[in-house]
Amino acid sequence: MKIICIGMNYAEHVRELPGVWGGAVQQRERPMPQEPVFFIKPDTALLRNNEPFYIPDFSEDVQYECELVVRIDRLCKGIEERFAHRCYAEVGLGIDFTARDLQRRCKAEGLPWEIAKGFDHSAAVAPVFVPKAELPDMQQLHFSMKLNGEQRQTGFTGDMIFSVDRIIAYVSQFVTLRIGDLIFTGTPAGVGQVHIGDRITAELEGRILLDFQVK
Ligand code: MG
Repeated sequence: MKIICIGMNYAEHVRELPGVWGGAVQQRERPMPQEPVFFIKPDTALLRNNEPFYIPDFSEDVQYECELVVRIDRLCKGIEERFAHRCYAEVGLGIDFTARDLQRRCKAEGLPWEIAKGFDHSAAVAPVFVPKAELPDMQQLHFSMKLNGEQRQTGFTGDMIFSVDRIIAYVSQFVTLRIGDLIFTGTPAGVGQVHIGDRITAELEGRILLDFQVK
């Protein structure tokens, strides 16, 4: 299986990101992506079952990004947006852990940033996924993330720049999606650093799906 991650899918997060488009661009002038931006984490990035996340020693600034995660449950290749809803039946939450210092360095040098995003256990995924039938419209979902009991991120999928179905249509033009693949749909604003001893919890429509320690 593979993990597809969407970058810059919430406008407020695009504005908070430092230096994405180069230092010369003023924050307010920063352009929004015209098409979904995606990257892939390997299956070794998975962190399941609310197991603890160990901060890797190669980074001084590992940050959380809480995201809605879609689990693909059929083979999808070149799917039209209007049929994309058939490709998944359940959604959950995940944390896209990011070594921001490494990412910044790679971006500054114009290099790919796999080391900042694809490292072991950088994709925490909730043990439970929620059937679509038990949720409101996919683009009307609320989720939130707390660090040590303090609210840090609130997401509303209606604020996505690219909808879940648009993402599936776009990605499946280039990369065939298979059963069990996961799509991290992008983080809302409020990303921040994790430290040893932190506890991360996150809920989707009032259901707590993530609850684990940082070590
Ligand atoms: Mg992310």
